[in-house]
Amino acid sequence: MLVPAAAAALALPFTLAAPAARSLVFQHDSNIPIAKPDIISQSSYDWSMDLNELRLVQFAEDELAVWITEHDKIRARADGKNFMDITDTPSLGFSSFLSGALVKNEYPAPGNHSKAIKEINKNLDVSSMRSFLKEFTGFRTRYYRSDTGKQSQQFLMSTLQKLSSHHKGVEISEFAHTWTQSSIIARFNPSSEDLKSAPVVILGAHQDSTNAWPFLPAPGADDDGSGTTSMLEAFRALATANFTPSRPVEFHFYSAEEGGLLGSQAVAKDYEDRGVKVRGMMHMDMTAWVKKGTEEVAAIMEDNTDPALTDFVEALIVEYLSIPAARTKCGYACSDHASFTKAGYQAACASESTFDNINHNIHSTQDTIDHPEFSFSHMKEFSKLAVAFAVELGSK
Ligand SMILES: [Zn+2]
Repeated sequence: MLVPAAAAALALPFTLAAPAARSLVFQHDSNIPIAKPDIISQSSYDWSMDLNELRLVQFAEDELAVWITEHDKIRARADGKNFMDITDTPSLGFSSFLSGALVKNEYPAPGNHSKAIKEINKNLDVSSMRSFLKEFTGFRTRYYRSDTGKQSQQFLMSTLQKLSSHHKGVEISEFAHTWTQSSIIARFNPSSEDLKSAPVVILGAHQDSTNAWPFLPAPGADDDGSGTTSMLEAFRALATANFTPSRPVEFHFYSAEEGGLLGSQAVAKDYEDRGVKVRGMMHMDMTAWVKKGTEEVAAIMEDNTDPALTDFVEALIVEYLSIPAARTKCGYACSDHASFTKAGYQAACASESTFDNINHNIHSTQDTIDHPEFSFSHMKEFSKLAVAFAVELGSK
């Protein structure tokens, strides 16, 4: 998620404009002074980032993309600017006529599978969410170009494998990128071979974290450790229930959202190129924060999303959650649903609160679980939503 500008300014510990920094190529602990050798291996200061590398970046839907350096891109993020880095995927959405994305799906009124959903939701468990997120936020950073970002991805991957090892219909794969950290796709296959090519139901969250200055620690508890955990818990409950859908249901854990939606654009582009049909994509970015003095809600984004799918998600919230829905907007390219929207697919996004009330500690060392406003029971409401989305759209 992108932080509102005012919070970003607070989070940034110093200015990034130092000319010396622009010429540095950070590689393997050579540029960062470290006091103790044992901290090197713990911290894995292993980066391959050329701050002078030119990137093609788009800041608004109605503006042309511009070439800027990686350094200026980091600075734009720290200033709270929304953008998509389209260097590797400039033609995303150009062949949406091949993927069938131009034909819009209709969505049912929820309630057709309510008995099964309520049964699965009973098994959602805050303590397993807490223990996963504690470990997930223990990596120094999950920045997509860092070694610890790779390690956190491997930890997430092995957790998914363990949770579903008993279920023969689950396939877990890495989606490799040109940077260190892969995206992960965990798929519930439908019961028969001929249903495997049916339109896919996608649930997404981003696994990477960042500090406003990416070389600093980034626990990323809320952004987007919380969305990742809400999705993971839904995945665990579905796997435990031996969920076997009528069409493929995929949980995506994207890399490099913080680099300008890089991972989700690569995945969406791959689906577009292969002509994969998508029944609907629901993304979650930040699901933990309930600001003091505000009503607890499940917020859904009205911009850069599909109106019919957003209505469907709102109806799921009404049907299955203990908290009400609220509508909000988060701006151009605020998270990975925007990549699927750009590809022409129908996408929705759910988040912890209306945009005014989101957690302002993100992109800093303060994005931890240790705040009274950080709520695992709030996160669990989003797990319920993910289960409902998977079962209602994944079943006939
Ligand atoms: Zn973020």
